[in-house]
Amino acid sequence: MQTPELSPYWMPFTANRQYKSQPRLLERAKDMHYYDQSGRAVLDGTAGLWCCNAGHNRSAITQAIQSQADTLDYAPSFQMGHPLAFEAAKRLVDMAPDNLTHAFFANSGSEAVDSAMKIALAYHAVNGQPQRTRFIGRHGGYHGVGFGGISVGGLVNNRRQFGHGLSGVDHLPSLKDPKLAFTKGQSNEGADKADHLIELIGLHGADTIAAVIVEPVQGSAGVIVPPEGYLQRLREHCDAHGILLILDEVITGFGRLGAPFAAQRFDVRADLITCAKGLTSGTVPMGAVLVDQKVHDTMVNGAPEGQIELFHGYTYSGHPLAAASAIATLELYQHENLFDRARELEGYWESALHSLRELDDGIVDIRNLGLMGAVEFEPSGGTRAYRIFENAFFEQDLLVRASGDFIVMSPPLILTKADIDQIVTRLGKAIQACR
Ligand code: PLP
Repeated sequence: MQTPELSPYWMPFTANRQYKSQPRLLERAKDMHYYDQSGRAVLDGTAGLWCCNAGHNRSAITQAIQSQADTLDYAPSFQMGHPLAFEAAKRLVDMAPDNLTHAFFANSGSEAVDSAMKIALAYHAVNGQPQRTRFIGRHGGYHGVGFGGISVGGLVNNRRQFGHGLSGVDHLPSLKDPKLAFTKGQSNEGADKADHLIELIGLHGADTIAAVIVEPVQGSAGVIVPPEGYLQRLREHCDAHGILLILDEVITGFGRLGAPFAAQRFDVRADLITCAKGLTSGTVPMGAVLVDQKVHDTMVNGAPEGQIELFHGYTYSGHPLAAASAIATLELYQHENLFDRARELEGYWESALHSLRELDDGIVDIRNLGLMGAVEFEPSGGTRAYRIFENAFFEQDLLVRASGDFIVMSPPLILTKADIDQIVTRLGKAIQACR
């Protein structure tokens, strides 16, 4: 296939002039690999963009999408429905923590986050506390790109071009701690950092706060793993003050941490979980909010008969192709035990990743949990990590992700130990080539 004309497409989150001067085009994919236009295989160390958890072009999923496209292309989701959306919701809540009994569909992680924030506000209003309008996020948090998401998010670059965002938002401090550099998995120090929430409650008043939203493990900030007990402590503070806890599991959902959701891995109860990406293994855009039974029932049973209880939704909520994909994807995860597989491979992944430490003095931290990992370099304004990413792609046939001064990885859950060896060997070569 010829290289397409590049100029008309304004690419997202991309330095467009830089990209277009040396484009990286992926033409097809299968299982653990992408293939470029010359047929060169590139090992996928990032599951696309943290999303293709089942690997690429799995026939059980692609066939379900194809057959659905021939059966029902679209059905309205307001006051109308189609069976697969209900079936997808059922499958999803079946694998979710027990208290999350309902699913609200969106089309992306960003939409799931904004939906969850609206549900939190609407719930408090119905529950007689309409003054609870404040949200607490966390430094380094990424919650997508909607105005709600960038407001509770803690990455300044995602906000600085766009004004002030929502008012009434505050942030917990980052969990990043240089003293904990090279910790394998979770640290057992620092659960008390959750107590900063008490300070924010003191500052703003508990009765003004609708919800706390955090990623269980921060992905985009560079795989920042919470210390043992931290999330439970946040939960306790939320419970004590009537605040909802939203876990943004857009990355950590669907086996990334060796369990369906991080809430199960960490044994922490969420009132709302946002998810997307792995829900359809990246095949068709879909996001969802998993909703606690009490929150749902308060809203739905509290509304007068015949009145819409939540004035919110999307034309494509529960889209037939997305629903077909979600059903096939969740089935495939279960059939191939991919979440257990991720848990089994975690130790091997951890050792392999940490072996990179010996390679280069410029590596200042390596972090991991489940099948997520990050290698952080001395600050260079992101230039070294970007060069490593480029070298990995062009010279080592490996896709990793550069973000700031670190390289992040989140391979498909189908990978083998040999794939892990390859990822780490190739990344090591790229690191050495880009001193
Ligand atoms: N929340 C988290 C934790 C994410 O990592 C992402 C995307 O990476 C999002 C939300 C936004 O998802 P999307 O890009 O599908 O809108």
